[in-house]
Amino acid sequence: MDNLIEKYLTLKNRYRNYDTKEALRRVQAFRLAVKDLSEKGYHVALELLGSINFGICEVSSDVDCILLHSCELHKQEGSCPEDCPNYIFEIKEIEKSIHRRLQSKDLKIDFLDNINLLYVDESIKKGDLIDNEVLYRLLFYRNLGRPVNRPLFINYCERLEDNPEFIREIIPWATEALGGYLRTNQHRLSFNKYNERILSKGLLLPKELEEELKKYLESV
Ligand SMILES: [Zn+2]
Repeated sequence: MDNLIEKYLTLKNRYRNYDTKEALRRVQAFRLAVKDLSEKGYHVALELLGSINFGICEVSSDVDCILLHSCELHKQEGSCPEDCPNYIFEIKEIEKSIHRRLQSKDLKIDFLDNINLLYVDESIKKGDLIDNEVLYRLLFYRNLGRPVNRPLFINYCERLEDNPEFIREIIPWATEALGGYLRTNQHRLSFNKYNERILSKGLLLPKELEEELKKYLESV
């Protein structure tokens, strides 16, 4: 079953070579938005998921992302509830900055989850790793997403990856989580749309990539 994760990652890296202009433009806007926020004293990072993650987004695509941040109010809990004032401020600022930079007020940004890095830091220091779902989610998103401001949290991920017991525990959990994520219709749709677009432009996908895509779609 961990085959699914491998297939997904291979495919993601292949597709990355076909980055659309829009995907690059957006990633750059997110980088600047995070920088704007850090100038106000809020240090955050993001993992971008969904179509931007594969470089296949268009002007009309929504953005799915995960917020990684530090909140003193909720450091016991691992993530902030939706009514946390810090969380609300951060996502509002990011949205504002993105809308201004991309000049598209209609762009929908969905924050699917958030992770409190203060909790992550404390858990790693205490060695509280096994069965710690917040840490599972952190490493899962790192492997699936497209990072913005990666230096803020990469050390934590590396320490988790260096722990063989943790990796053994996370694989079955991650396989199940990935299966759930991939079964969403939206995900399949963006793939189909992208392939159609490539074909209609007369651009042929490399045979190998086409095969991989087929196998992958059959497996989810
Ligand atoms: Zn909070």
